[in-house]
Amino acid sequence: MSVRVVARIRPLLKAEIERDVIVDAASAPGSAEEKKSVVRIPNPKNESEAFSFQFNSVYGQEATQAHLFDGEIAPTVKHLFKGYDVTLFAYGVTGTGKTHTMRGGKTLAERGVIPRLLSSIYRRARKLEKDSAEETQVEVAMSYYEIYNDRVFDLFEPPEKRTPAGLPIRDVGNGKTQVVGLTERPCTSLKEFEMLYDQANVNRSTSATKLNAHSSRSHAVLCVKIIQTTAEQTRVSTASAIDLAGSEDNRRTDNKNERMVESASINKSLFVLAQCVEAISRKQARIPYRESKMTRILSLGQNQGLTVMILNLAPVRSYHLDTLSSLNFANRTKKIEVNEVENQPIFREAPGKGRESEKFGAMSAPAMHRQPL
Ligand code: ADP
Ligand code: MG
Repeated sequence: MSVRVVARIRPLLKAEIERDVIVDAASAPGSAEEKKSVVRIPNPKNESEAFSFQFNSVYGQEATQAHLFDGEIAPTVKHLFKGYDVTLFAYGVTGTGKTHTMRGGKTLAERGVIPRLLSSIYRRARKLEKDSAEETQVEVAMSYYEIYNDRVFDLFEPPEKRTPAGLPIRDVGNGKTQVVGLTERPCTSLKEFEMLYDQANVNRSTSATKLNAHSSRSHAVLCVKIIQTTAEQTRVSTASAIDLAGSEDNRRTDNKNERMVESASINKSLFVLAQCVEAISRKQARIPYRESKMTRILSLGQNQGLTVMILNLAPVRSYHLDTLSSLNFANRTKKIEVNEVENQPIFREAPGKGRESEKFGAMSAPAMHRQPL
């Protein structure tokens, strides 16, 4: 099982002055199907030539939030409830639609992957509690943090309470990591989730001098833990949704001081991510995970679960070189092998063990295989 890579080309924006569209979605050559799986872009050195990149699916300018969710994300919810972890991440240059894809707008139609995923989780949970033969209880808990300048900050903590060094990451064996001291909030309904999520997103933006500048320079990681309990067992699985920092080439922007530090660490973490991807696709023994916090946490290829990467692309010419470098990066990501391993259910044999600490203990990093407790 490899990482599923899906490209999404955003539409031209009303406010966008540039109308020179150079990127489009196409069907695979020879396929009679309407389904699109190819991104086409001109060769910058010879515009009479086009490059084609094939992915698992490609969503063009006309694709709605519902299309993307129904086609790519909804099918993972079943796996989540079977005990597999799911990791979803958005990769792309600033301004290509990562936040729009993951979080989305306020209206029902504009809601992004995250609120739709939660809505789908609660729907399935309620159905399971009502219909399953054995009495089942489903609980949901979330944690949310950002990685900024290679430091981890809990988004449930107001910015003034942050320790400058950020939260430590601990190895918990088998290439798995855990953020130490992260807040985990139980959320019993979609409404409660949305309230907590909005509140945490305020903590993300108010810590910045420039709202957009900040959010495009940090990686935001949302972890949703699902705890299914029957009389015999407890099964825990985690869905992680990650809005990565912008992948633009920061060397080309005029960065000074603080911006320089930020750029250096974004460049580094995305560079290390690319190196990890390269090393994994070449089946090299040494994968440089440890060289940035983001790659330690993401641990692509060591993940035991389903991974969907959404590659966000802008259709216009001013993004040409950045778009090509995103496409090349994603092309390598496709080759990562992911072992699909179920989280072991926790059998209720040791009554001495505190249920609360079992359920709401420290949150593991995204989609890591969890050992039986
Ligand atoms: P990023 O997070 O990658 O920097 P944003 O999600 O902030 O990019 O998107 C940039 C702008 O484009 C925003 O104004 C957003 O609303 C708009 N946008 C992105 N994708 C779409 C889309 N599929 N449909 C409509 N508007 C979009
Ligand atoms: Mg964004």
